[in-house]
Amino acid sequence: MKITPQCKMLLHPSVAKHMFTSLAACFPHEGCGLLAGSSPLATRYLPVRNISQNPRRSFEMDPRELVMALEAIGDAGLELFAFVHSHTKRSKNQVVPSALDLQYEKTLTLKSVHIIVSWVYLDLLRPIALGWHYPGTPIRLETAQHGSS
Ligand SMILES: [Zn+2]
Repeated sequence: MKITPQCKMLLHPSVAKHMFTSLAACFPHEGCGLLAGSSPLATRYLPVRNISQNPRRSFEMDPRELVMALEAIGDAGLELFAFVHSHTKRSKNQVVPSALDLQYEKTLTLKSVHIIVSWVYLDLLRPIALGWHYPGTPIRLETAQHGSS
């Protein structure tokens, strides 16, 4: 499976909607999943269960579901674009990776872009998303309008 960390990633509206609703459904826990597609368009969001002991403050992807999601991406001939997780606390550093995030990232054998989706405004139509490159350089992520329908 090809891994393509995307600095400029376009989200198909239906993918953005799937990602945001799936993450919102995890609230007040952090949600997580993978974005995949064919460069530069993300065409699939694959939710993965958060098995963190403290899911309100951190995430840890269920290793079994993570492997299954990666296999599904490979089987579909897609590229892994990014690891995604949500932040649910109201703070101005919502889209900054936490110390736990950076720790978790080091345990992953696959290195890719990480995207944080923030619910600081708890507004489903206007989530803030930001990505960062391993090992922690912030990047701006272009999120295409996902429409209001
Ligand atoms: Zn985090």
